[in-house]
Amino acid sequence: MVKSWHKLKQMRSYLRIRRRKCKFCKPFFYPETLPRHCVHKGSYRVTELLISPAKQRTEPRDFPMNYCSECGHTVTLKIPEDDHRPRYVCDRCNTIHYQNPRLITGTLPVAPDGRVLLCKRNIEPRKNYWTLPAGFMENGESTIEGALRETYEESRVKAINPTLLSVISLPSWDQVHVFYLVDMPDFQFATTPESCEVALFTQEDIPWSDIAFKTVGRTLRHYFASSRDALTVLNDHIHLTTME
Ligand SMILES: [Zn+2]
Repeated sequence: MVKSWHKLKQMRSYLRIRRRKCKFCKPFFYPETLPRHCVHKGSYRVTELLISPAKQRTEPRDFPMNYCSECGHTVTLKIPEDDHRPRYVCDRCNTIHYQNPRLITGTLPVAPDGRVLLCKRNIEPRKNYWTLPAGFMENGESTIEGALRETYEESRVKAINPTLLSVISLPSWDQVHVFYLVDMPDFQFATTPESCEVALFTQEDIPWSDIAFKTVGRTLRHYFASSRDALTVLNDHIHLTTME
């Protein structure tokens, strides 16, 4: 068990002094980057805090945790035996609370006439920017099921023929974005609470400067650069300072 800050710092480069604080969220560390906007609230600007070494905390860069979700007792941040990074460990039931990357799964829907479908986001982050339908994968579903569900929830498209199109890791954000190429069986689509506008675009019409996220832009460019008959999977990673 490593206890001193100095040893923790030696072990993990992501334990930095600098961190940013959202007025709505608790402060958290960022490793490679200090984004301008809160990852939880999207548009809310975060202010930078410089913490004195005496007040440094060794929390993981994910959500700070105070209580065990198994038994409700307090947790302590420490490196479990035979592990190599700090985890929240329950002081009573000893449950180790691992925090791992989240998977965002979505689709690039293609209409019968070859145009692609984009949704204008009605929610933060990146409200009013265009995106592909996508969202957080739920427990109990496959990546394809999650992608098709999100597609219906955001555009009312009942997509078919999913083919893996891109897998993009975002180590700075603890996320992996996975997109499937799908067909729209017809021209049925609609706005939803999550999408204030849903529309079909030719390659020339894509609003490149108003795309919500870099992973969406890369996936679209990969699709247009590929042949539908010999589709390759974009397997990429991006070290982002921002998602935009
Ligand atoms: Zn517990």
